[in-house]
Order: sequence, then C-alpha cells, then structure tokens
Amino acid sequence: MLKITHYGDVTRFDLARTLAGRGRYWTTAYLVDGTLVDTGCAHSAPELLEALRGMALARIVNTHTHEDHIGANGPLQRRAVGRSRPGRQDGLEILAHPLALPVLADPRERQPLHPYRRFMWGWPEPSRGQPVSDGAVIETPRYRFQVLYTPGHSSDHICLYEPRQGWLFTGDLFVGGQDRALRAGYDIWQIIASLKRVAALPATRLFPGSARVRDNPAQALEEKIAYLEALGERVSALHRQGRSVSEIVRALLGGPMLIEFITLGHFSRRRLVLSYLGKNDESSSRRTDRAGTGSGTEDSGEG
Ligand SMILES: [Zn+2]
Repeated sequence: MLKITHYGDVTRFDLARTLAGRGRYWTTAYLVDGTLVDTGCAHSAPELLEALRGMALARIVNTHTHEDHIGANGPLQRRAVGRSRPGRQDGLEILAHPLALPVLADPRERQPLHPYRRFMWGWPEPSRGQPVSDGAVIETPRYRFQVLYTPGHSSDHICLYEPRQGWLFTGDLFVGGQDRALRAGYDIWQIIASLKRVAALPATRLFPGSARVRDNPAQALEEKIAYLEALGERVSALHRQGRSVSEIVRALLGGPMLIEFITLGHFSRRRLVLSYLGKNDESSSRRTDRAGTGSGTEDSGEG
C-alpha cells in the first residue's frame, strides 16, 4: 500500500505491505529535489517504483539498513542501469554510512531476518552503495544536506539536515510516542546521545522514518529525550536496589504488549530494560535473568 503527501518540495511516500486490504507496519520514504531518502520494504517496492515513474531520481540516501528502509534499492538501481548510457554501470547512486555498505551488498548474509521481519517487510535485493560519513554534504540542484552520524537505533544510522530550509530527516532515530519496548541490538544510551545531537539543531520541520511529520522538532525531540532519560534513571535506581530485570519490567513498563508476541520477544519491554543496563546483545537477556533475584521462567515469552 502506498500513500503520497506533499510538504512543499518534499514528497512523502508512506509504504506498507497490504494484508486483508490494510497497510501494516508503515514505513516512510521521501523524495526531495531528485534525492530519495530511504526506499521502504521489499513488499512495497513495486508500488514505489510505479509511483516514481516519470519523477526525476538522481540518487538514494539510506538512513540505515533495516529492511523496511532499503527494500526498493535493488530494483531502482537495476532499472536505472537499464536506462544508463552504454558503458556506464553505476546506474543510480546510493549513499549510506560505511557500515551500511556490506549489508546493502548482501542483505541475506549480513542481516538475517526473523520470520516476523520476513513476513512484514521481506528480503531486500542487494544493491551497491557508496560511503557517506559524518560531516559530509550531499548536494542536490537546490539544496545541501548535512550528514550526521546518529548511531543507536542501528550502528549505521545517519540523519540528514538541510540548514537553509530547517529540514531534519531522522530515519528511525526519532519516532513519536513513549517507548515501552526495544529490539535486540539497539543501544538506548546511544539513541539518547544521538537524539541530543539532532535536538541541538535549529530545525523547523522533522521528517521521521515513520509516524507523522513534526513542525516543532525541538519540542518533540526534547520531550522524547526527557522521557527516555527519566525512564533510564528509574531503571538504574531499581537495579541498584537489587531488583531483577523481570521486576523492573513489571514495575516500570506495564503489562504485555502485542509486539512482544508478534516478534516472539525480539522486540520487548525486557530488551529496553536490558539496554538501559548496558546489555544489548542477543544472549545477555537470559544470563541476566538467571543472575537476578527474581524468577526468569515466567518471562520466557518475552525474550
Ligand atoms: Zn530501523
């Protein structure tokens, strides 16, 4: 499913797999002055390609390599190669953080997907990227986008900032709401540090990787940072009192969430608490619970 919204020179594509006539787990791509920021998931790639037909497209910039942001890279690059001049193989330029390039080149090998991710978003096709690092400037005919390295949601995450327009493209660093869960591999303290970095910019409009566009970026970002820091302080305080991860989850994050069942605990309240405690890898959750004072067995469905 695909919806198009215009924000001046920025065209927003909301993209999702269609199930039972409805779009599920939406993600967002933006086209501005011939540059496409992210490309949605593999399931929505044919619709995005169709929507982009006839629009000028000079390059793609990927904010990060999660499968719901790179899904049309390969098909778009292939289509461009077919149209490029004889002898020119590059087709469509794709820019991403250096850490992203091996994932773009071989998503199946470098980013194995749990069944729920394959179902919701699908396997991306390989694509060829060029590195773009913190401090770089990406020029389009009318705009200049500054690249900011903003790890935490993933290690290869970047944001784009256009200072004259005040546009901030945050990928998945910022989405709205008060997080109660986190996915394995995210780093909540890095996320907070990256949020603080972009919150210091005098941005006037925030274009997130999902959720709605914000016209008061500083307020939205500061509210998010304040919530996450306050939650972190409460997690740390309970941890210092010797409370187990399970007890901290119950005390601070409420009851079970649908996303925990859908993802078989890959995305959970428990992962959020563990990340606050500095444990972001897949295996640490069970070790921590065994070491804790509470029973781990009742949480086995969470991670
Ligand atoms: Zn993501």
